[in-house]
Amino acid sequence: MDQAASPVVTPATLEVVPLGGLGEFGMNMMAVSWEDTTVLIDAGVMFPDPDQLGVDLIIPDMTYLESRRDRVKALVLTHGHEDHIGAVPHVMPLFDGPVYGTAMTLALVEPKLEEHRIDAGKRLTTIRPRQTVTIGPLSLEFIRVTHSMPDCVAVAITCPVGVVLFTGDFKIDQTPIDGEHFDLHRFAELGAQGVLALFSDSTNIDRKGFTGPEIDVIEAFEEVFTSTEGKLVVAAFSSSVYRMQVLVDLAVQFDRRVAFVGRSMERTSEIAQRLGFLRVPSGVQIRDSEVPNFAGQDVLCIATGSQGEPQAALSRIAIDDHRFVRLGPDDTVVLSARAIPGNEKAIARTMSHVARRGAHVITDSMKHVHVSGHGSEEELKLVLSLVRPRYFVPVHGEYRQLAQHARVARRVLAGGDRSVQVLLAQDGDIIQFDQAGARIADKAPTGRVLIDVTRVGEVGDEVLRDRRHLAADGIVVAVVAISRDTGALAGPPELVARGFVSGDDDAIFDDAAGAIAECIQASSMDERTDQGLMTEKLRVELRRFFKKRTGRRPLVLPVLMEI
Ligand SMILES: [Zn+2]
Ligand SMILES: [Zn+2]
Repeated sequence: MDQAASPVVTPATLEVVPLGGLGEFGMNMMAVSWEDTTVLIDAGVMFPDPDQLGVDLIIPDMTYLESRRDRVKALVLTHGHEDHIGAVPHVMPLFDGPVYGTAMTLALVEPKLEEHRIDAGKRLTTIRPRQTVTIGPLSLEFIRVTHSMPDCVAVAITCPVGVVLFTGDFKIDQTPIDGEHFDLHRFAELGAQGVLALFSDSTNIDRKGFTGPEIDVIEAFEEVFTSTEGKLVVAAFSSSVYRMQVLVDLAVQFDRRVAFVGRSMERTSEIAQRLGFLRVPSGVQIRDSEVPNFAGQDVLCIATGSQGEPQAALSRIAIDDHRFVRLGPDDTVVLSARAIPGNEKAIARTMSHVARRGAHVITDSMKHVHVSGHGSEEELKLVLSLVRPRYFVPVHGEYRQLAQHARVARRVLAGGDRSVQVLLAQDGDIIQFDQAGARIADKAPTGRVLIDVTRVGEVGDEVLRDRRHLAADGIVVAVVAISRDTGALAGPPELVARGFVSGDDDAIFDDAAGAIAECIQASSMDERTDQGLMTEKLRVELRRFFKKRTGRRPLVLPVLMEI
């Protein structure tokens, strides 16, 4: 279609607004609008830094969507990772239309909606790759891509000015564990027909070569299975269904039973088995409560906690505080995940605890026990070559990655009859495509909203913007001084409250201080000297305390000081 030659009838414009995920890692969300129709692509969360106390999740600011409430017609999900679906419960109340996703993606959304008591009715609509749905003037086609979990799609949107292709997250895995291949043919066909704009994943642009298929980890794990005399505990992301399959297959080969340990691991493995994405031969799987009944050498635990999260299974196991799984000198713990930036300290702490139990620790820097789900430079180049878009917008990454992807794209698409134009956009940029071309025209409001999940509401950002929450229940800061050496309480805890009404309950803060003291006393030495873990433990404990005593849920911020 030669845009320049066709007469301009209406000043029709396609507007694409990234509301998250550009210039940061996580909370991916994109609004695509043609006239009165807006379609959202993904609704993800970002996880907070450990120093953002009292915050569980971060979601994109929804101001832009609220301003066009009536126009939002559908939400389209590319795959089931938290940075793409975590904010679905916060977005669904903002519009009435359907939520499209593959079977696996929607199965992972369902429990989130239940937690938020959202009745999805018939809104969740399962789609398959190569299927097309029409939403007003927009036609959406789903195209299979490969990634670190099953059932992922790219989305091609056709509108009167052309085709815009959003890759979603991908790598090009030519030997996928489930046999479902990246639909490179469809990418090439669209490229041959002419693609107006390509929005492509930039996460691993700074890695040379190809990322490598999921089966790449088998060799390293074979060595681990061979050399481990006792129990084997592998920590991974609960969404890493392919990793689970590799491990289950090896467990069968090496005659070990498999226990999925940790709530999200149990849940995802159950969903994946139900949908046929994870195959566990009968008799192989055991419950975590059955682990003590088997000799160490007969057991593989696939556990949560690869990021050192204080409440996750591995963290509990590491400090000898898990109900069923214990570690000893013959055992091996494998971290089969990359460290998300910001989590290094927590991970290192967990690994030290594991070492204290006498167990052996293996990370991806020692053996090839993890492979990324995002394509490296050559894969990203291949997609650029196949699609040959007129405009290219790098997405999903920090600014330096977007900028590097832009440089690579210019090199790949230089020459020929026309060279590509790169739009280096950031969150909130309103990107317009029309007969005259494309440009970043304006800025939509964007930002971050911090969420406290137990409260199911917004906490506000650093200045505690969400006055509703604070006005309703207030905030309680607990300053707790503990001895660096023993982890014992080094003085009475101090509680400061703002906007929190305790009624006539004068003794409440004294009792809360008592609860803190008790909680610390009841904790093991390992727990007490682990600041991150103890902070989280006190937060949970105090929330429970105030809820029970007052029926309110103030925002609780424990501040642990080691002296
Ligand atoms: Zn992602
Ligand atoms: Zn992903």
